Amino acid sequence: MSDIAGHGRSQSTPIYNRQSDPCLGPVVATAEDLERRVAELGAEITKDYAGRVPLLVGVLKGACFFLADLARAIELPVEVDFMAVSSYGNSTQTSGVVRIVKDLDADLNGRHVLIVEDIVDSGLTLSYLRRNLAARHPASLEVVALFVKRGLQSVDLDLAYQGFEIPPDFVVGYGLDVSERYRNLPYLATYVER
Ligand code: 5GP
Repeated sequence: MSDIAGHGRSQSTPIYNRQSDPCLGPVVATAEDLERRVAELGAEITKDYAGRVPLLVGVLKGACFFLADLARAIELPVEVDFMAVSSYGNSTQTSGVVRIVKDLDADLNGRHVLIVEDIVDSGLTLSYLRRNLAARHPASLEVVALFVKRGLQSVDLDLAYQGFEIPPDFVVGYGLDVSERYRNLPYLATYVER
């Protein structure tokens, strides 16, 4: 057991590494990059939403890691809710099919809703979510996306906040998975199917 000041694991010690896992490629964003950018996004949101109580809507499961860190970087009262939509399943190819698997508990009428997305690839998931949530009459509706893949979107994303623009490779870590693995990787790395 570690005491409250101690760390059970050194920050720089990877919990997976290329020696033990040949599918893991180069690191795209380190734990330190993520921590710094999430703090910056939290500060921007704090400033923009002063006097309001944003409702953070996380898209399960990937975004819950980002949302948990982002919520703690926002120095305002916030509320949190989650929904789940179908995405990749077990493959690394986008299906283009978006379906609500779990809906929100909250009524969005009159709320300041901030959609918290982990990664935008084709943008299809986000554009569906935005249309769906806009129809529930929120007072405002914005999006914060942590990772946006460069040049892959055919739809207009209109992101109020964006963490990182990344190359169009398949990535894992910080909530992003392959068949439910790698979500707890504290950094973002490319994944190569072998
Ligand atoms: P889009 O609809 O923008 O094509 O895809 C969005 C969803 O696909 C994300 O919320 C995420 O679940 C999944 N996704 C897109 N790119 C990646 C990736 O590189 N790695 C992982 N693990 N999931 C991804």
